[in-house]
Amino acid sequence: MVRDMGLRKVLVVGAGLGGLLTSYVMVRRGFDVELLEEHDVIGLPRHCSGLVSDYVVGFLGGFVKEHITNRFSEYVVKVVEDVGIREVLTLTFRKPVYLIDRVGIEKSLCEVVTSLGGRVSTRTVVTNIDLSRNLLRSSKGTHDYDLVVISEGAGRRLIKSLNLCRVREYALGPQALLKTSRSPEKVEVVVGSFLGPDGFGWVIPIDEKHVILGLVTTSKRAALLLKYLAKKVFSTTSNYVFKEFFGGLIPMDKPCENVVGENYLIVGDAASLIKPVSRGGIYSLVEEVGALRDSLYKGSINQDLMLSRYRKLVAFLKTQHSVHEVILGVGGYYKLVKSFTKLGLSEVRLLDYDKLIPCSPQPLLSVVESTTRWVC
Ligand SMILES: Cc1cc2nc3c(=O)[nH]c(=O)nc-3n(C[C@H](O)[C@H](O)[C@H](O)COP(=O)(O)OP(=O)(O)OC[C@H]3O[C@@H](n4cnc5c(N)ncnc54)[C@H](O)[C@@H]3O)c2cc1C
Repeated sequence: MVRDMGLRKVLVVGAGLGGLLTSYVMVRRGFDVELLEEHDVIGLPRHCSGLVSDYVVGFLGGFVKEHITNRFSEYVVKVVEDVGIREVLTLTFRKPVYLIDRVGIEKSLCEVVTSLGGRVSTRTVVTNIDLSRNLLRSSKGTHDYDLVVISEGAGRRLIKSLNLCRVREYALGPQALLKTSRSPEKVEVVVGSFLGPDGFGWVIPIDEKHVILGLVTTSKRAALLLKYLAKKVFSTTSNYVFKEFFGGLIPMDKPCENVVGENYLIVGDAASLIKPVSRGGIYSLVEEVGALRDSLYKGSINQDLMLSRYRKLVAFLKTQHSVHEVILGVGGYYKLVKSFTKLGLSEVRLLDYDKLIPCSPQPLLSVVESTTRWVC
């Protein structure tokens, strides 16, 4: 059923990737869109690593082409132990994984949105949303709207005050840009007991001399852990200098069910659309915006269509939450990787980077070389 909500004036809270993509699809369908962003520069401060799948790159299309910094077909998994750090596993992908420049993409998107007639108000902090009166209060005054898009990211202050979704659990994601004497060629995923059961780290080569080093953890000593991780990762191979620190929060609640109502829409991290196993959020974000784009019709949202697509995403994310619970049940990422190595597994091939679907193992009878081979 198409409920014509007669929406025209749309206020978008937060000009991150979610807010910008939503604004783009809505402005293209003739909505009157204004974006309200608390910071003064679009894209900054940055917090995201920017690793995305081929699928996401395909969705972003022309917006991403100039902003691909690197691409990878393999990751290596390393284990940190008392004796040092060692490589134990390779993750191989059927299609490349891309490192994208989030800041550059957000700036380009912002330019396109404004060129299409959207308005962007920076240094505008939204402090309150009154859904019953279609009123929003910001540091610049009071604004009315037909539809408010809440894309405030992981902090979820407004979502919490509106009581629309569960806002309780977070992980911390500290990161740094490092100059190194020699960057690794592949992305390195690092596990170790020092990161706790739910933590893991990463090294993402940007070019020969620069990497992004980061980790996720629920420990309050996140910044110290990042420095310790740098010591361990570069102990034998490379010198390094910290150039810039960044990072942010990662929502760990189950995805919000109430993302679309008569006069509101919740997008991206604000709706906890994070894949809990890898902590990536861009895949879910583009799936949600894709569902919205296909549900816009004559100045309104076909709520039923949007929700039917969205529920598939929610079901997928809930499955990921179950997988995450299983990982914690076996003792966490470090213990999981250790058990892989005990089984003699040295390579895992993944069919789908977003959904982390492994290839089927080759049937036992036809395995001639080793048990580590997977066939796609
Ligand atoms: C350390 C780290 C690494 C990550 N790496 C990856 C990765 O490699 N791949 C991946 O897929 N995902 C990754 N993610 C997740 C990804 O960054 C998020 O899923 C994505 O940025 C969500 O986009 P968003 O638009 O919902 O939120 P955001 O990008 O956070 O945008 C929210 C915007 O709202 C603004 N805002 C907030 N409150 C207000 C307010 N009250 N008034 C006005 N403006 C406001 C903020 O300033 C911001 O600009 C990572 C996250 C972290 C923390």
